[in-house]
This record gives sequence, C-alpha cells and structure tokens, in this order.
Amino acid sequence: MKLPKFYLRRIWRTIMEFEMLEKGDKVVVGLSGGKDSLFLLYALKVIQTNSKFPFELAAATIDLGFGEINEPYLREYCERLSVPFYLEKTDIAAIVEEKAEEKSPCSTCSFYRRGALVKVMQREGKNVLALAHHQDDAVETFLMSLLYSGQIKTFLPTTYLDKSGIRVIRPLVYLTEAEVKGGLKYAEAKPVKNPCPYSGNTQREYVKNLLKTLIRDNPNVYTHLLSAMREGKHIELWPKVKSRQEMHELYLRYMGAVDRDDYNS
Ligand code: SF4
Repeated sequence: MKLPKFYLRRIWRTIMEFEMLEKGDKVVVGLSGGKDSLFLLYALKVIQTNSKFPFELAAATIDLGFGEINEPYLREYCERLSVPFYLEKTDIAAIVEEKAEEKSPCSTCSFYRRGALVKVMQREGKNVLALAHHQDDAVETFLMSLLYSGQIKTFLPTTYLDKSGIRVIRPLVYLTEAEVKGGLKYAEAKPVKNPCPYSGNTQREYVKNLLKTLIRDNPNVYTHLLSAMREGKHIELWPKVKSRQEMHELYLRYMGAVDRDDYNS
C-alpha cells in the first residue's frame, strides 16, 4: 500500500493546518464511489497505516435510491483496505424529484445525504466525517455562491455540524481534481457509475465549464479565485444597506441643502 510523498505531504499539511484530527478520532469517509471518495479512503488508510497517529477509519455509502450503485464493488474495496463498510438505503431520490420545481436537486440531495450520514455515524458511535471535496470543488463553490446566491463564501476545510457536534473534515482541499485523479492509480480503484439522472447536468457542471473557459483565456483566474477565498485579503465592499431609521436621519440632515423635487423625482 503506497502513495507518493507529494500526496502524503499535502494531506498531512491540510490535516495539521486546519486541525482536522485528534488522537482516537473515529473517522467515517463518505464513500459515494466516485474517484474523489475512493482516493480519499485509500489516502487516509495509507496515513493510518504508516503513521503513529492513532485514529479509526470506516466508510459509509448512502444509497440515494436513483438506481444501481454497485454495492458489491464498494464492499469489496473496503474489505481490501480492511475498513468497515456501512450502507444506508434511503429514498432521497424521491424527495429530490418532489422538490425539483422549487429547489436545485443537488442542494436537496446534499442536505438529506448529510442527514443520512449523520444517522449512520451516530448509530456506529463515530465523531468525524471525512468528505472528498478537493481544491477545484472549493473554487467552484466560491464562484457559484457569488453568482447564484450573492454571497462571498465557500465550504470550510474543517467545520462542525450544529446539532450532532460531528466534525466535518475535507483533507483533499490542497489537491486539485487532476491530482486526485492521478492518485487513483495507487489505490487501484475504479470509480462506479453515478446512476443519478442529474449527474453531469448540474449548476456545478455549468460553473466548472465556465471556469475552464475563463482559465483558457487567462490561466491566472484559478489562483486569483483561490487567493480571494482566504481571510485577510484586501476586501473593499460597499457598506451594508442602511435601515429605514438611518435613512430617515440622513434625509433630515440633507433636506435643507437638497431641492425636495430633485430628491422625490
Ligand atoms: S448530481 Fe445527483 S447525486 Fe449528485 S448531488 Fe446532484 S442530485 Fe445528488
């Protein structure tokens, strides 16, 4: 079981910088069967095997109900890595369909899938959820938030779920998608097909392609977005919207100097 130093250094740096792990943690990897989660499980297994830092490792797959997810392959992969495997069958697909008119399928899906993962973790007595989001995901999420919800934010490398207190970690945030893809050969894993009908046709897919176009024209776009995501950067934004009371006070202050007709027109 091996992984080049490049990957181990990056992942360890991420774990340390964002204080992702404590000794004795019981970690569960959200295993969708895609390349990212297959790689994350393998990388954490290599880290667990080769380091003196003690933590438990398991994997959980949520069957969303969209169709065949190749459970035997995922089970066999976990057995090969000597990692306990939990499978939770759900009807999230039906909920996604039901709400498709009012909400984006992926946001409904992510919300309920997270809930299902928490349920598995509480049942199995686990405290850390490891998700396989990489650096490209973070940049895309940042751009999506800005474009579609008017918010300057992306997901955090380490965060805590409110009610359960479960720590959510993303140890791949310092690896690009291409690097994760390149690392998969060490795991000798084959991604399973996602049976979801929305797969490949999502808002994220659109933003991913948009980003590719922008980067083709100016390769610095990616690093500029990455740098803009960091706290401590120079930020110059308009002041927040004033309340009615504040506007009323300003009105009284200025009205002596301004022609009322000009203001009201
Ligand atoms: S593409 Fe399908 S499986 Fe993936 S988050 Fe969206 S709805 Fe869920």
